[in-house]
Amino acid sequence: MDLFFDSNEEAFRDEVRSWLAENKPKEDWSPMDTSVGFEQHRTWEQKLFQGGWSVPSWPEKYGGRDCSLIEWLLYEEEYYLSGSPGRVNTNGITLLGPTLFDWGTEEQKDRFLPKMANGEEIWAQGWSEPDSGSDLASLKTLAVRDGDHYVLNGQKTWCSRGAWADWIFCIVRTDPESERHAGLSYLLVPGDSKGLTRRPVSRLDGEPAFAELFFDDCRVDAQNLLGEEGSGWSVAMATASSERGLNLRAPGRFLAAANRLVNLYKITIDKNPLLPVAIRDQVIDAFVNAQAYRWQVYQKATSLIEGGTLGSEASYMKLFWSELDIDIHAAALRMLAERGELVEGAPDVQDDGIWMSGYLFSLAGPIYAGTNEIQRNIVAERVLGLPRK
Ligand SMILES: Cc1cc2nc3c(=O)[nH]c(=O)nc-3n(C[C@H](O)[C@H](O)[C@H](O)COP(=O)(O)OP(=O)(O)OC[C@H]3O[C@@H](n4cnc5c(N)ncnc54)[C@H](O)[C@@H]3O)c2cc1C
Repeated sequence: MDLFFDSNEEAFRDEVRSWLAENKPKEDWSPMDTSVGFEQHRTWEQKLFQGGWSVPSWPEKYGGRDCSLIEWLLYEEEYYLSGSPGRVNTNGITLLGPTLFDWGTEEQKDRFLPKMANGEEIWAQGWSEPDSGSDLASLKTLAVRDGDHYVLNGQKTWCSRGAWADWIFCIVRTDPESERHAGLSYLLVPGDSKGLTRRPVSRLDGEPAFAELFFDDCRVDAQNLLGEEGSGWSVAMATASSERGLNLRAPGRFLAAANRLVNLYKITIDKNPLLPVAIRDQVIDAFVNAQAYRWQVYQKATSLIEGGTLGSEASYMKLFWSELDIDIHAAALRMLAERGELVEGAPDVQDDGIWMSGYLFSLAGPIYAGTNEIQRNIVAERVLGLPRK
């Protein structure tokens, strides 16, 4: 593994940095997990697209600039360091996009990828059900074929931004007699489908980030089936690997947070030289671990470029980044003590209250993208080859 970036990669990094510095929104927006913020963040997706920075790693044909995996990681680092807004189309771009490249027909790729890249169509993930989360293969939402359509009945839950998304990628049971992984299919469902009711649900931090979806004889065009009927589990596993591994959790986000934590420590120790040494150690650990995750990802990227695959390792990467995120934010809150509870706009608030909101969100990391208990089971069985009990 070469530990240095070449001059083209450095030039690419500079180009991203200057574009973001010049173009990132100057005004404050509502959180993207609100109906107003959702649309504000859509305009950012459109601006990124116009600048050629919405999906840099995709082929030009679909709105990208064909950049390499290493360049994409550099892009992500610069993106988070710049403090640009969150990506409201993350579920589309990082989860469904790669799945469409692997499983979509040419017609489906031409139909869906360009509108995903330009922000015209924002996607949500409709997988979890009230009784099927970790045990996703037990899902019950039925999609019965009727001519050119599937007729959907059932309920989905915890669908992030599902109340406003233009499209939802769902896993449904197309064979009513089937059990578990067999008989599932992957269906792309328009958000405005007749027979689909979407109800926003508030998150711990108060934002109406989730939606419950109710399908009552909801008809969806059979052309929106991704992969063969009955192959939904295999298609879904391609998406899940992206969600846990490289695509959704490039190290940029954690590197930027660890840098902010170091800055916070410098400011705090100036004002309070008696800050416990244990806090300094937590800051150091967080910084070192963010760097360790960074190099682990670059090492994995190098192996992927050389023809390797990302399989069950995505699970231990997910364990690492989700716990790291909590550690970074918990260290900041310990440092801030009672000031950590001040919210945006309060006098004497530090960094607009991002440490508390970031901490609350970090607590969700061990749950979404497959809970950490499930990831530990996967690592035990498939990476370490341990017996099931
Ligand atoms: C912020 C956030 C965003 C989300 N966004 C989406 C989304 O957009 N779309 C979507 O479909 N879903 C989404 N989810 C839902 C998420 O995928 C589920 O919460 C997750 O899969 C766990 O399912 P569950 O909540 O039903 O918990 P359960 O599966 O009921 O698990 C409860 C507890 O039991 C443990 N457990 C279960 N089975 C085992 C086992 N075999 N071995 C050991 N421990 C076990 C779990 O680890 C967990 O601690 C989101 C969740 C969060 C927190």
